[in-house]
Amino acid sequence: MPSNVTAIVPGTFDPVTVGHIDIVRRGACKFGRVVVGLVETPLRKSHLFDADEREYFLREALQDIPNVEVDRFNCLVVEFARRWEAHVILKGLRAISDFEYEFAMAQLNRKLAPDIETVFMMASPEHSFLSSSGVKEIAAFGGPVDDLVPTVVARRLRELYPPRA
Ligand code: ADP
Repeated sequence: MPSNVTAIVPGTFDPVTVGHIDIVRRGACKFGRVVVGLVETPLRKSHLFDADEREYFLREALQDIPNVEVDRFNCLVVEFARRWEAHVILKGLRAISDFEYEFAMAQLNRKLAPDIETVFMMASPEHSFLSSSGVKEIAAFGGPVDDLVPTVVARRLRELYPPRA
């Protein structure tokens, strides 16, 4: 793939997990620039962390990858892509359950912006069942999340939900 192509990776990242990081890292090897787009105010779901904190986690977790940027948006994904002159929307696919929603979103986005291609990367097997909501659930019950999220997120979750003795 040409190195001058910018791909955006949109999401809520509430909070970012090692599954998200894996997709961004692999994307950064294939595209010239990857812009992680944080949805500031998710329409469909309530969030645990506000946009400032979610952005801080992303920046901390991704700081070692030179061709990755972090930005936030509150508009259509394709508008956000245009803002960065990106022609690729990069998404991670976990199980079949992701497929139906992502398939519909990709078709809708294609309708809105035929020049922007949605590209899917399969989740790495070890992250196939990892989700932000799963992480929050484990943490809320005092379970260990250190292998599932970046260090900065694990630390914050421990503050919010002290581990059970
Ligand atoms: P979630 O679906 O966990 O609430 P987001 O809305 O932040 O997370 O997801 C943004 C993108 O990241 C989606 O394309 C989603 O499929 C992908 N993604 C989420 N978790 C993983 C994972 N463990 N491995 C690969 N991709 C993932």
